[in-house]
Amino acid sequence: QNLQNVALIIGVTGIVGNSLAEILSLQNTPGGPWKVYGVARRNRPAWNTNHPVHYVQCDISNPNDVALKLSPLTDVTHIFYVSWTSKSTEAQNIEVNGSMFRNVLNALISNAPNLRHVSLQTGVKHYVGPFELFGKIKANEPPFTEDLPRVNAPNFYYTQEDILFEMAQKKEGLTWFINRPQVIFGFSPYSLMNLIGTLCVYAAICKHEGVLLRFPGTKAAWECYSAASDANLIADQHVWGAVDARARNEAFNVSNGDVFRWKHLWKVLAEKFGIEEYGFVEGSSLRLSDLMKDKGGVWDEIVKKNNLQATKLEDVGDWWFADIILGMEAVLDNMNKAKEHGFLGFRDSKKSFINWIERTKAYKIVP
Ligand code: NDP
Repeated sequence: QNLQNVALIIGVTGIVGNSLAEILSLQNTPGGPWKVYGVARRNRPAWNTNHPVHYVQCDISNPNDVALKLSPLTDVTHIFYVSWTSKSTEAQNIEVNGSMFRNVLNALISNAPNLRHVSLQTGVKHYVGPFELFGKIKANEPPFTEDLPRVNAPNFYYTQEDILFEMAQKKEGLTWFINRPQVIFGFSPYSLMNLIGTLCVYAAICKHEGVLLRFPGTKAAWECYSAASDANLIADQHVWGAVDARARNEAFNVSNGDVFRWKHLWKVLAEKFGIEEYGFVEGSSLRLSDLMKDKGGVWDEIVKKNNLQATKLEDVGDWWFADIILGMEAVLDNMNKAKEHGFLGFRDSKKSFINWIERTKAYKIVP
């Protein structure tokens, strides 16, 4: 069969969706040249329009909208599912994220006769449980390997995996791929969890106010080894999963392959924003959710003064997420399985950190 590969990226404006849109559209990407559709709810933002993607505005939580907008995409061969919606409890996350995923798969399995692969992105919470139960349940011990048992707690990742396995049974020849990133270093002002964007906004506010760039996390997180996943590396691994037979019907970790310490990256962040005073302050603990609560007006001033893209602080500062990540200790995973199966991609985390800060500046999200 010489069918052209046709990708459907669900969550095309998200932190990995945006990287996938860029990478799948390159001439030399494995499996290419790809035709690419990309789905999200909001209007297509300017920073996403460079990628030659057929943009489909659709709310995948609404079955009628899915029937109307996704059922006509009959030429899709591969689905890359890099989307989620955040609710206040994990029970609600399971409900909503399960049905979003099911809506998409039902529509495509029924209407796209050449559909042959589904790639699902979950994350290392697979090994430790949902945010709301951090520290309250028995999690797996790092470094995480893919064969560890599921944690005995509700988790929308497990629901999505089970839907995927069930759907793969329904359509003969349909292969699946799952990847489980660490905290993602990437670019998307529309992401629910964009750590780099959030830290850039925090640094810009500290610079503007002339105050110390304090590390808003724990001493343990400042000192320990940490790991991250570059959004382009994750996108590369999704593509590998789509074209390499060794990746078929398997779940893989995806992280940069090195470790870093926040105390070292903090210096880099300070330098990028021209801040001389920075560091961890012993004693009192600091949460960005508290510290940034009333900074909406300050952010509006910074946007205006520097002629930035119009954004609201609550959209570009995912404070709750930074508070979680910078309060964790040595959440490390193991990349051997991916290597053994033939995926040798890696990133230097410091270079990755710098690259995405620069991208965030280049798109005029921060000064
Ligand atoms: P993002 O939050 O960055 O992006 C979500 C994308 O989905 C956006 O394009 C959003 O656009 C779209 N979307 C959300 N709801 C809908 C809807 N109802 N209909 C259509 N489109 C929708 O996603 P991530 O890449 O962060 O998350 C994907 C997976 O990766 C999740 O399971 C997450 O837990 C996991 N993960 C993420 C990490 C991170 O650091 N970000 C770390 C580890 C794992 P719009 O809002 O306009 O619809």
